[in-house]
Amino acid sequence: MSDCIFCKIIAGEIPSVKVYEDDTVLAFLDISQATPGHTLVVPKVHVPDLFAYDADLAAAVFARLPKIARAIKASDPRIEGLNVLNNNGEVAYQSVFHSHIHLIPRYSTADDFSIHFGDHTQDYTPAQLEAVAAGIRAKVGA
Ligand code: AMP
Ligand code: ZN
Repeated sequence: MSDCIFCKIIAGEIPSVKVYEDDTVLAFLDISQATPGHTLVVPKVHVPDLFAYDADLAAAVFARLPKIARAIKASDPRIEGLNVLNNNGEVAYQSVFHSHIHLIPRYSTADDFSIHFGDHTQDYTPAQLEAVAAGIRAKVGA
């Protein structure tokens, strides 16, 4: 896609700091390092978000994550964990509309990244949870 910044990075038209590349994905450092080593894994084909993946592309892209995650972890002995984050839609904080998966290494030091789920354990009755799930099941197909 001609006006897509990540397509331009994949094409080598604008620079990136590469971590890993193969036929399916490019992984490069996020220009804004949420923590040191914060990496984006990007399918080489332009796909805007998770909703647009087919199963083969998802299998291919997500299959790359463990080895890239292991390499990030092995690169710095201070890394104790890693968050996988994939934002879909502006409301979900997506700002680049070429799908990408954030690999965010976690440190007990040098780390001010946070995710806040909150405690919503009391928000739904069992019947309400069942109604939510039924709505999703009706759409998920085989
Ligand atoms: P998201 O908000 O999930 O769409 O994430 C987009 C990410 O792309 C942000 O974390 C940006 O810092 C990052 N980003 C934007 N432009 C570049 C670039 N040219 N090189 C590397 N990372 C970028
Ligand atoms: Zn693109």
